[in-house]
Amino acid sequence: MIIDMHTHIFPDKIAAATIDKLSNVSHTPAFTDGTLNGLQKSMDAAQINLSVVLPVATNSKQVEKINSSSAALNEKFSGAGIISLGCIHPDFTNYRAELSRVKNYGLKGIKIHPVYQDTNLNDTKYMRIIDRAAELDLIVVTHAGLDIGFPGVVKCSPQMIKNVVDEVGEFKFVLAHMGGWKNWDDVLKILGGAKVYLDTSFSTGEIIPRRDFNWAAEDLKLLDAAQFMEFVKTFGAEKILFGTDSPWTSPKTSIDFIKNLPLADDDKNKILGLNAKKLLSL
Ligand SMILES: [Zn+2]
Repeated sequence: MIIDMHTHIFPDKIAAATIDKLSNVSHTPAFTDGTLNGLQKSMDAAQINLSVVLPVATNSKQVEKINSSSAALNEKFSGAGIISLGCIHPDFTNYRAELSRVKNYGLKGIKIHPVYQDTNLNDTKYMRIIDRAAELDLIVVTHAGLDIGFPGVVKCSPQMIKNVVDEVGEFKFVLAHMGGWKNWDDVLKILGGAKVYLDTSFSTGEIIPRRDFNWAAEDLKLLDAAQFMEFVKTFGAEKILFGTDSPWTSPKTSIDFIKNLPLADDDKNKILGLNAKKLLSL
């Protein structure tokens, strides 16, 4: 069973324009057309059983609408292998009630994105949201580390994550991009032993550049197998969740990376789906 813990889709009407815009900023190609249908096709091709959609609210006014449409999506498609989490924004003042609504809708958690939401993860605004989400036993997925679209900007560093874990304690905390995109040395140093989950999205192998990618060749390198094994050793195979960041990586390449690791089949199966199944209480 393969569960993809990190995917994105956009409403049909704006998918093409959104993909175009994001692809132009990152200078990397998209592997689906960004629609629900595109995600389903790519899941079929890669034999992915379940995808978790992570919506991001880029301003507080979108929050309620996104959560309502995420719940509607789940009603229609959770039987067909797609489930969406909810969202929140740090400027959303009525967050306690909204998180209760997320819970009552049956959404399994929320996605936050400190870079797109222009707030540090250890800011009080996020701290109180995370504390409330933990109280409700919701999964909290955060973008972590650098973002390819915002060179040099980190609003969720390993140290900020440590501050949150020290304050809130253990809860269902998922750090995207192996704990901090391109902050990986610090993830191992500062977060080793912390009770957090790491998702593999956009973090393994190499970035496939568009022809106009203007970084140095060295920048294309993500985690290789030996580096990835350090994370398995430090956090445990049961804390690592497979994710593609669809549409931004090739699902097949991402799956093959895990399958080719020098790990027991048992551990590979945990990473590819069993850990997520447990976390999502399926
Ligand atoms: Zn993502």
